Amino acid sequence: MKNIVVQQADRIKKLPPYLFAAIDKMKQEAIREGKDIINLGVGDPDMPTPAPIIECMKKAVEDPRHHQYPSYDGMLSFRQAVAAWYQRRFGATLDPETEVLSLIGSKEGVGHLPLALINPGDTVLMTSPGYPVYQSGTLFAGGKSVTVPLKKENGFLPDLDAIPVDVAKAAKMFFVNYPNNPTAATANTEFFESLVDFADRNQVIICHDAAYTEIYYDGKRPIGFMEVDGAKEVGIELHSLSKTYNMTGWRIGFAVGNKEVLTALGKIKSNLDSGIFQAVQEAGIAALDLDDSLLDVIRNIYQERRDTLVPGLQKLGFQVDLPAAAFYAWIQTPKGISSSEMTAKLLKKTAIVTTPGNGFGDVGEGYIRMTLTVGSERLEEALDRIERAGICGE
Ligand SMILES: *Cc1c(COP(=O)(O)O)cnc(C)c1O
Repeated sequence: MKNIVVQQADRIKKLPPYLFAAIDKMKQEAIREGKDIINLGVGDPDMPTPAPIIECMKKAVEDPRHHQYPSYDGMLSFRQAVAAWYQRRFGATLDPETEVLSLIGSKEGVGHLPLALINPGDTVLMTSPGYPVYQSGTLFAGGKSVTVPLKKENGFLPDLDAIPVDVAKAAKMFFVNYPNNPTAATANTEFFESLVDFADRNQVIICHDAAYTEIYYDGKRPIGFMEVDGAKEVGIELHSLSKTYNMTGWRIGFAVGNKEVLTALGKIKSNLDSGIFQAVQEAGIAALDLDDSLLDVIRNIYQERRDTLVPGLQKLGFQVDLPAAAFYAWIQTPKGISSSEMTAKLLKKTAIVTTPGNGFGDVGEGYIRMTLTVGSERLEEALDRIERAGICGE
């Protein structure tokens, strides 16, 4: 028998420990025991992709022209649909030829962007708690991650003035994300304006990750980064059809904004992937052209769930704010109980899966995240179980 010793690359060894591994194990155990799990752990919409999108895909998939390699930048018709959507939704004018780039989901863009911009040792700023891929993408490019904390007292917005001047000057890019995962916070105009100013002053490229702009409550649309003057000059925005149109499995997203940044990202991508299946891009066009009333139906469902879960948790004594956007509840753990302890306790005593806040970075310690991606009856059942188990927020 032959044998080789497989040594993983250092970049893999340097990845932070997978904090959800322990939870995963407990979850598998609970499933084996036949427990009725309520999964409030994953941020993946449970509702199906709207029918007109599926119908469009069915037709497109039969067209042999779509069976060949797609263009690297994305079909021009898809990029035009993106530009039209940005104009309609954010009043932002984009050149579909140079200021829009298709992505195989926004995660792909987050992961590859540092390879396009970062040299070994370069500093990358990122808000924390945050989407873990900001850190791993930076690590793969040999960059140095510097986290900027999101604190409750600041409305989970970063305090840009608190970033030391030498750190700001050394930074090459900054990952920011509103509406925010996991805190569910939204940005305001003043913040985005100060972010543009910060970028310009310190020569830092902004990467605004905007997966949740269309999941909002009480009819209040959150402001988009591209609505602010100068945004398109100082950075890019990554967007995705995943959360808005219940299309997480389809893998389609896009980046818009600064041409030179998009050109650099496109160079990395053209050497690694060959674009998005054109039939999926056709479906993406159908999605972006959908009437907003269809999204209202989806938003109303999330709102009903939010209004079931969050006040219910508050009644049980938990410190949690009503989210204004995204489909997450960011809940403080009771005093003296860590994020992992709380997640473990809920799983053991109530068979409810949640995500420990420290899985999104150290700053998330003291919180757990629950998602609104199960029906209201299940959320009521979850509240019932928590109450019956005698678990309360204090
Ligand atoms: C879900 C999510 C993404 C990734 O979305 P895809 O487009 O499906 O890759 C990116 N950023 C944040 C903050 C997310 O929550």
